[in-house]
Amino acid sequence: MSSHKFIVAPPRIEDREVVKPLLCGPGPCDYWPSVEKALSKPVLSPICEELFKVLEDIRVGLQYAFQTRSKLVMATSGSGHSGMEAIISNLVGPGETLLIASRGIWDQRALMIATRYGIKTKVVSIPMDTTFSLAQLEPELKRIRPAGLFITHGDSSTGTLQNLEGLGDLCHKYGTLLLVDTVVSLGGVPFFMDEWGVDGVYTSTQKVFSGPAGISPVAFSARAEQKLNSRKHNPPFYLDAKQLALQWSCDGVTRTYHHTLSSPLLWALRACLQELVRETLPVSWARHAASTAHFHKRLREYSFEFLIPKPEDRLATVTTVKLPKGYDYRGFVKYMRENHKILIFAGLGPTVDKALRIGIMGVNSTTKVADAVADAMADTLRALKKSSL
Ligand code: PMP
Repeated sequence: MSSHKFIVAPPRIEDREVVKPLLCGPGPCDYWPSVEKALSKPVLSPICEELFKVLEDIRVGLQYAFQTRSKLVMATSGSGHSGMEAIISNLVGPGETLLIASRGIWDQRALMIATRYGIKTKVVSIPMDTTFSLAQLEPELKRIRPAGLFITHGDSSTGTLQNLEGLGDLCHKYGTLLLVDTVVSLGGVPFFMDEWGVDGVYTSTQKVFSGPAGISPVAFSARAEQKLNSRKHNPPFYLDAKQLALQWSCDGVTRTYHHTLSSPLLWALRACLQELVRETLPVSWARHAASTAHFHKRLREYSFEFLIPKPEDRLATVTTVKLPKGYDYRGFVKYMRENHKILIFAGLGPTVDKALRIGIMGVNSTTKVADAVADAMADTLRALKKSSL
C-alpha cells in the first residue's frame, strides 16, 4: 500500500441523462445509424494490417469526396481546426505571407493560427453577406504574391457559398497555393479539388458526413507536395503532413507509427464515406439542394427574412435568417430547444445578434426535417411575440 496521502478524494460522477434534440444547427449534425454502429467496432492497434486496410478504405473514400487523384490524402486527429492548422502550418512558413479572404469567422481563425506560426498575413475583406469575385482577389494576389491564399468554401458563420471556379488558376499565375476550408460544404454542394486547382483542403466529420467530430480529412495537391518537399520550416510534429503521410501509407508501402489513431473515429469516418459513396456525390448534392429549397420556400411562406440577399450566394447546408426587430436570438434558440427539441444556433462572429443559423444537412437533409424546423420556427416566432414583445 502506498503511504502517499491523497489530497483529492474520489469525486461523485453520477450518470447523466441528456434529452437529445434534433441537431439542426450548423454542426454538429446527427449520426447516420451506420455510424453509430461503427463506433463500437473493435479497437485497432497502431500497426496492424486491419488498421492499414481501414486507412486505405478511408483514403479512397476521401479521394472520391474531394474529387482528387492526389495520393496525399489523410486525416488529422482533431476537429476541423486541426485540419485548418495542418494546411496552414504545412504549406506556409514563418516569414512567408498568407493572404486571407475574409467574410466570416473561419478566416479570422486562419489569421490567428497563421500569426502564431510567425506567418505574415494580409487580409482582403468584403461584407459578410457577400462572396468574392475573381476580380476582387486578383489585384491582391498580383500585388502581394503570397505563398498561400486562404478562403472558406461554405461559411457556417454567415451562410454563404464561395464560388471557387477559376480561383486555382488565378492563384497559380502568381505563385500562390490555394488553401480551402470545406468543413461545412463537402458532400453537400459540388466541390472538385483537382479541377478547381485546390492545393490544400480540409473538412470535418460532424457536418454533412454526419459522424462524430474529432478527425479531420485533409488533402494536398501535387503543387502542395512540392512545397512540402522543398520547405525550409518544420510544422508542428503532430500535424506534419509528411509524417502523417507515412502513417496513412499514402505511398501504399510504408507502415509507420506516428501517433495512436482513434479506432472509433476511424471506423466512424469509414462508415460516413460508405454512406457517401453508396448515395454518390451528385445524388447527395441534389438531395441537399432540394431539401434546402423546400426549407426556404417554407420560411418564405412564414415571412422569415434571409440574411444573404443574393440567392446564388446562399449555402445549401446552412441557412441564415434575420428575426424581426425586438426578438432576442438566444431566447429564440432556447425556446426552440425547450419546446420543440430542435437545436438551431444563434449568430457567430460577424452574425452575432444578426442571424439564426440553421443546418439542414447530412442525415437531416430531408423535406420532413425541413418542415419540422420551419414549423417550429414559425411557432417560436408567434409564442415569443405573445409572451415578451
Ligand atoms: N470551418 C467551418 C466552416 C466550420 O463550420 C467549423 C465548425 N463550425 C470549423 C471550420 C471549425 O471546425 P471544428 O469546430 O470542428 O474545429
